[in-house]
Amino acid sequence: MVKNDPFANATKQVNDACDILDIKDKGLREYLATPNRVLRVKIPVKMDNGKIRVFIGFRSQHNNDRGPYKGGIRYFNPEGGVEYMEREVMALSSWMTWKCAIVDVPLGGGKGGIYVNPKTEKLSEGELERLTRGFAYKISEVIGPGKDVPAPDVYTTGREMTQIMDTFSKLNGNVYSPGVITGKPISMGGSLARNVATGLGAAYCVREAAKALKINLKGAKVVLQGFGNASTFAGEYLEKMGSKIIAASDSKGSIIDPKGIKVSKLIEYKQKTGSVVGFPGSKKISTEDLLTTQCDILVPGALENQIDAKIAKNLKCKIIAEAANGPTLPEADPIIYDKKILVIPDILANSGGVCISYLEWVQNNMGYYWSFDEVANKMESNITRGFKDSYDMSKKHKIDMRKAAMALAVQRVVEAFNQKGIWP
Ligand code: NAD
Repeated sequence: MVKNDPFANATKQVNDACDILDIKDKGLREYLATPNRVLRVKIPVKMDNGKIRVFIGFRSQHNNDRGPYKGGIRYFNPEGGVEYMEREVMALSSWMTWKCAIVDVPLGGGKGGIYVNPKTEKLSEGELERLTRGFAYKISEVIGPGKDVPAPDVYTTGREMTQIMDTFSKLNGNVYSPGVITGKPISMGGSLARNVATGLGAAYCVREAAKALKINLKGAKVVLQGFGNASTFAGEYLEKMGSKIIAASDSKGSIIDPKGIKVSKLIEYKQKTGSVVGFPGSKKISTEDLLTTQCDILVPGALENQIDAKIAKNLKCKIIAEAANGPTLPEADPIIYDKKILVIPDILANSGGVCISYLEWVQNNMGYYWSFDEVANKMESNITRGFKDSYDMSKKHKIDMRKAAMALAVQRVVEAFNQKGIWP
């Protein structure tokens, strides 16, 4: 048994959703919670010093009732070791199933990776490529455009995705197969708008939430925790919708300027100085002060476990858009719900990434490529519907949006499962 088992947490969420949907069948609950397959592979690599090193990799395929498995490949070494990583990818593959179902893209859930930290271990480019291609070879039988479509994740980039695509294509009689993987560079069949996808998706969610709560986005005050890929683009698009960013943060600290901070100016400043701290006209504040600033929209877009019960009691926002994964602790959820703050859960708020991954796969499969606006508009309609369906579910069952989004997702997977039945 691993400590703080993430897969136990994922299983609990599935069971909670089954309670809401009145699914009593224990077998069906087990079916929904458990991955269809967890592949564990050994990857021997000849290192630059001539010695052989054996790496361990995983691919967890949770559910494909609605379409091919979809989810990232990470190169990471969590503190709990290899056994913990196995449980972690199982949990993450489960969350991918639900994330795809909420925004109704016809894909299932997968996740995988290699137990390695390429940054701290300083693997050379050659070692990293041999490792990536070795892993691609070992999982090649279970991936494919109609089977399982991986994507980048922690410490993997378009370069690794290209190498996996190339290895897969060569193993399959040199059939050009860009649809085997997403997150590729544009020149290798990647999609426009992928770089802004998560932030843009979060901004669309906020717009829908503001409509539901009758909050005018013009002049609405926004606080961004983090100023990386997800939060910067969320800020930029919310600004385009008329909102005013009043506070932001990064790993070096948090700043506030009630008069408003122009996102493009803050990007420029951060590029020059390496941090948002010291931005002209702003004042430095603590993380707690940032999170509890009086505002309309709070976007936790950096790290997990940021909003605990104490912070939750002091929150002074109307909407929380979880651009980051897992920023709110379970203990905080009921407090936030009682305060009538609308939480757009991570599984919905940051689903813009998987929506555009899906659209990349569609473009690859048809061999025809859309403009930035075409991709963004298609993503917008998936996200808008995902928000509306989750919101309706929350009203129907009088539950918070996190529980509602999960229940909606489980309901959609059960519908697909019931159509297909069990065979053989
Ligand atoms: P990123 O590395 O681009 O940005 C992370 C930001 O967080 C940086 O600005 C960093 O300085 C800041 N940060 C780090 N420690 C901090 C601290 N203690 N306080 C405040 N800020 C801190 O990463 P990202 O891709 O934007 O991912 C951020 C979150 O969004 C993660 O939880 C990730 O899982 C989630 N997410 C991202 C995507 C995506 O497509 N980028 C998709 C889904 C989910």
